[in-house]
Amino acid sequence: MTYKEWTKEVRQIVARISKMVREHNKKEKEKDQKNPRRRIVRLAVRAVLLVFLAFLIFSHPKITLKGAEKMDVGTSGFEEPGYTATDIFGRDITKKVKVEKSRDKVTYTVRGFLWKKGKVERDLYDGTPPELKLVGGDTVLLKGGTYTERGVSATDAYDGDLTDKIVISELDTSKVGTQEITYTVADHAGNVATATRTVTVKKRPAETPIVYLTFDDGPGPYTQEFLDLLEEEEVLATFFVTNAAPKYQNLIRTEAANGNVVAIHTYSHNYSQIYSSEEAFWEDNDAMNEIIEQQTGSKTTMLRFPGGASNTVSRITTGIMTQLIADCEERGYQYYDWNVSSGDAATGSYSEAIYNNVIKGMSGQKESIVLMHDTKQSTLEALPLIIQWAKDNGYEFKTLSPDGFTVHHTPNN
Ligand SMILES: [Zn+2]
Repeated sequence: MTYKEWTKEVRQIVARISKMVREHNKKEKEKDQKNPRRRIVRLAVRAVLLVFLAFLIFSHPKITLKGAEKMDVGTSGFEEPGYTATDIFGRDITKKVKVEKSRDKVTYTVRGFLWKKGKVERDLYDGTPPELKLVGGDTVLLKGGTYTERGVSATDAYDGDLTDKIVISELDTSKVGTQEITYTVADHAGNVATATRTVTVKKRPAETPIVYLTFDDGPGPYTQEFLDLLEEEEVLATFFVTNAAPKYQNLIRTEAANGNVVAIHTYSHNYSQIYSSEEAFWEDNDAMNEIIEQQTGSKTTMLRFPGGASNTVSRITTGIMTQLIADCEERGYQYYDWNVSSGDAATGSYSEAIYNNVIKGMSGQKESIVLMHDTKQSTLEALPLIIQWAKDNGYEFKTLSPDGFTVHHTPNN
């Protein structure tokens, strides 16, 4: 069949159909003329059919959102509150809904009867400022000192990590008094978060302030790390050693070889033993001095009483501290208490508290003997910060010496 023949055939069919329609309409009209009521019914049926057709054409499946149409996702991100969907006949097609999430909206689409599409959107926005977190709290420094930022971070549930965008205010350390460092950060949506750190700038002593770092109760499992850290920082310290952990004895040698000062803190560090009598104390003390001699090549005339000269544990022998202090002079010993306590001996003490105790204690005085323990891991963690702070504030690090600075506590026996 050629194209021409084909189109001719189609035309003939169309003509035939239209003729049939015309004839049908003509017949209907004739019937209508005989019975006018019939016409009304016929038109009504047609109208109903038209309305139904329009319904099929213009109606769409419906998606109903649970929860807000505009959602603040700046706090904990987006969590779907749920939705339902029905087709044009009201049948549940919730399971067919497709959900697509972008940065600022969630789009829900569904296909129902006759492949018809339903669509609804939920707007997402950030109404919550970022969270600013400071490492460490309020601090103290000396006039003219430098503040080394302890650390600050910002995270936003919507924008993620905003640490790079934090603006930190300047500090004027030439003025004594209280100042604030302000940390400000804004997220993409303009929500601003601020945090502050109070810095107390204290008067600087007329002469260069001096710090004596002292470590008691070692050597122990952390001592090597303490020594490495001191070496790295090029700082020397004074170690008041015991024989509580004999397997670390050889570290006494390293302490001295590195240039640190080694002094006695008794052999046993056993309160009820050493403070049971004068003789017991000195016997125990001398045993430790033997070990020190073995390790370093020479004895020492420097000691620190376990618990300090003001301890109360020695009350098992009334008046013994007063006696031992008198003995020191007689035996050619100097004893060293402290004027800054790190508090690291307390169980559960953590590095932040140790750091704060030390810097606050040091900033009040010209010469600081700081009591710490190289048997504590939290002290090991705090030490780099303490050294940094002392360097930032112009301190000179020194080791204790037989004729140098000392602190004596009043006996409490
Ligand atoms: Zn001790």
